[in-house]
Amino acid sequence: MAIRRELLAGEVLFRQGDPSVCAWLVERGHVELLAVHGRRTTRHGLFGPGELIGEVGLLGGAPHGTTATARSDAVVMAVERAQFVERLEAADPILRTLVDSLLGRIHTLVANQPREGAALTADTPCEEPVERIGIDKMRLETQLRDALQSGALEVRYQPVYDIAARRIGGYEALVRWALPGRGEVSPAEFIRLAEETSLIVPVGEYVLDRVLEVLVALREAGNEPLPSIAVNLSARQLVEPGMARQVVARVERAALPAGALTLEITESRMLDYAQVAAVMADCRSQGLRFSLDDFGTGYSNLAHLHALDFDFIKVDQAFARHMFDSPRAMAMVEAIVAMAHALGAGVVCEGVETREQLARLRELGIGHAQGYLFGRAVAAGAVLSGQAARDGAAAAG
Ligand code: C2E
Ligand code: MG
Ligand code: MG
Repeated sequence: MAIRRELLAGEVLFRQGDPSVCAWLVERGHVELLAVHGRRTTRHGLFGPGELIGEVGLLGGAPHGTTATARSDAVVMAVERAQFVERLEAADPILRTLVDSLLGRIHTLVANQPREGAALTADTPCEEPVERIGIDKMRLETQLRDALQSGALEVRYQPVYDIAARRIGGYEALVRWALPGRGEVSPAEFIRLAEETSLIVPVGEYVLDRVLEVLVALREAGNEPLPSIAVNLSARQLVEPGMARQVVARVERAALPAGALTLEITESRMLDYAQVAAVMADCRSQGLRFSLDDFGTGYSNLAHLHALDFDFIKVDQAFARHMFDSPRAMAMVEAIVAMAHALGAGVVCEGVETREQLARLRELGIGHAQGYLFGRAVAAGAVLSGQAARDGAAAAG
């Protein structure tokens, strides 16, 4: 199904009685909704940019109750049922009851609409801040779906420095999305949005596929030892049914050596430890390793370390940033390193920007460092040519 549709003035988007496959967000122009009951025609309004149409039938599972016709040249974006339904299912039961009740009332109202030519709604765009945020999120999510289909997401690779070996030993895969008209959207923003629905699953698969392609190409070019590439996974991705099997199957198909792929577990409010531990054991038996990302901030905490067996702990970049101006930050890094080593885990320090920081990490016996000192995230080409590894090692001095 097309995510974006351009309509000419007079063109019909959907007809009354058609099954509701998706709702539509008007991006440009105006679309009119008309319902015909016997000899009565009811005008439901003229909808312009930022307004949603076709959502009532979609939510209630009923066919469209109106015919939508472009009244000028228009552009509309499809909003899929899953975008609403998965959020509704996750919502507070009171909110769900309220939505059900409102939908029922709208259906009754429409069915009993008596007056010929009467408008049901005024032609005013929604200006409520909450509604605006909702519409903006829907638009972004729809554009993300589009980006996935058109391959507009890019995976970049940030070098990870092996401190003892004094070379780049691996990379972290970081996804990028260049959105026309908005510039680069931060993964911090769109990954969170994708996590609200199952959209995170295809995003994760896309990233994993690109990373495996790079690892296979590096192996075929005779790179020995093969660098290790870390892929970020949210806890939601990790416990998604079938996810572990898919990751393992993909890695098996690529026939990569153990340790070539590391999974970084990011922010996770509600971890079902038993479930996550089972998935981790499954993946680990196939040679995958696990890092606990952003340790020491947000939801990346001691409880995770206690319950789950990680190969690496990534010390959040806030600690590297404050290491020299705060003896407390330094003391905490030392304590984290001692704890990680006692647990048999390696340490990666994130956000390393200066040689001074690197020298201190070396003294502390930290295994790996990552940050702008060694390079920002670069395109796959720079990994395949070895340029990113050479630049990173040279910058470290
Ligand atoms: P993260 O995994 O902790 O990634 C490190 C972030 O710190 C990256 O931001 C990176 O560009 C930035 N960074 C690295 N070195 C430095 C430094 O020296 N100084 C400073 N100030 N920043 C540095 P980015 O790429 O914007 O990613 C943000 C977050 O988005 C990531 O944090 C990760 O949690 C998430 N993310 C990125 N790609 C993916 C993905 O493919 N899947 C999932 N689930 N999450 C992803
Ligand atoms: Mg990470
Ligand atoms: Mg991190």
